[in-house]
Amino acid sequence: MKNRSVPNDSENARGHISKKCPECMEYMPLSDEVCPACGLAVGKINKHGMANRKTDWKAYVIALFAWLFFFFYIWWAFIRES
Ligand SMILES: [Zn+2]
Repeated sequence: MKNRSVPNDSENARGHISKKCPECMEYMPLSDEVCPACGLAVGKINKHGMANRKTDWKAYVIALFAWLFFFFYIWWAFIRES
């Protein structure tokens, strides 16, 4: 616990001046909302010093509709005729 030479011991994020991209591990300023390296939308810093991924609602909706279409297709192709 007293070993201050361990850099991975990030129990508090208060001392951070930069956050880390969860996608490409690049550092960026705390105020950035988009990773300058890979373009990922990022949120606030978490306790590990990493930037949180922003919830991409559009992607979720698209994925949901893709699944609905998939199930509809299964029903249409295999179940409907019986
Ligand atoms: Zn990145």
